[in-house]
Amino acid sequence: VSSLEPREDHRICVCVRKRPLNQRETTMKDLDVITIPSDNVVMVHESKQKVDLTRYLENQTFCFDHAFDDTASNELVYQFTAQPLVESIFRKGMATCFAYGQTGSGKTHTMGGAFSGRDQDCSKGIYALVARDVFLLLQTAAYEKLGLKVYGTFFEIYGGKVYDLLNLKKKLQVLEDGNQQVQVVGLQEQEVCCVEDVLNLVELGNSCRTSGQTSVNAHSSRSHAVFQIILKSGGKLHGKFSLVDLAGNERGADTAKANRKRQLEGAEINKSLLALKECIRALGQNKSHTPFRASKLTQVLRDSFIGQNSSTCMIATISPGMASCENTLNTLRYANRVKEL
Ligand code: ADP
Ligand code: MG
Repeated sequence: VSSLEPREDHRICVCVRKRPLNQRETTMKDLDVITIPSDNVVMVHESKQKVDLTRYLENQTFCFDHAFDDTASNELVYQFTAQPLVESIFRKGMATCFAYGQTGSGKTHTMGGAFSGRDQDCSKGIYALVARDVFLLLQTAAYEKLGLKVYGTFFEIYGGKVYDLLNLKKKLQVLEDGNQQVQVVGLQEQEVCCVEDVLNLVELGNSCRTSGQTSVNAHSSRSHAVFQIILKSGGKLHGKFSLVDLAGNERGADTAKANRKRQLEGAEINKSLLALKECIRALGQNKSHTPFRASKLTQVLRDSFIGQNSSTCMIATISPGMASCENTLNTLRYANRVKEL
């Protein structure tokens, strides 16, 4: 555990989280090829083959704002990523936290957005931890007098379309008005008065997210899930925290043998993840032009990329196994580009 304090007031923070080898990987005798030698360094020990067939390890090193090894709890990850941004939404800020990585690397485990196994408990994920701190801050002297109300939304973006997870996956239109305000028309905003209310919303959305699927992960890993906690004052937007569980970033070998539908899905995901990278980079560089229209994901999150009071963090989740090495390297390279100014 680090002695460093979480950074205050950062606009972009990029962290990496390694999960433990799971039972399947252990059974298949997959090897852990990731080490976290210090609290901001990730090393990948890739096994390569020479022409004469002898094998050697190629070590690659990446630096981030923070790197978490497989013993880190959600609470610890939260302390260095989303937590430092919570208060900004009371000061009219737009905060955003993304979980990015290959399917099965721990995005949903980190965010707390699904019950894919008995080990899942959404009260321990980042959705719940943000909610806990929002309600704590709401009761402090400084913010109590603002008379703020708290709302939650939960929706999914799949194939460039938006579906409301709090309203039976109703398909919603996204409109941009003359002032370039982006609106998801008819999105359910449910008022929440305590952490318990938020957990109920998350549960409702999760059950909606996975309903009707033969395999729980099949659809949800191909869509982006956006959970938002919104503060309003006198009916008007005051601040917003968006927590985004992104679609799996895997491609190549994973999709080569897939069918046409899968290929189209993959192309759409790729497009949105590229647009996301460009938008976050534009925010970090204080660029006047942000290409948020390049995908539905970035369009819907326009607020998060515009303005002086926006801050973003990314948690890149990685699998430790040798079998995932290529996807892991892709994730690390992407995360590296996001933070590089
Ligand atoms: P993703 O959402 O990226 O597809 P999941 O969050 O569903 O991946 O994780 C896949 C599996 O690995 C789940 O069973 C989850 O509980 C487990 N897992 C992920 N990250 C961790 C972790 N840091 N510690 C323990 N188990 C984890
Ligand atoms: Mg998931």
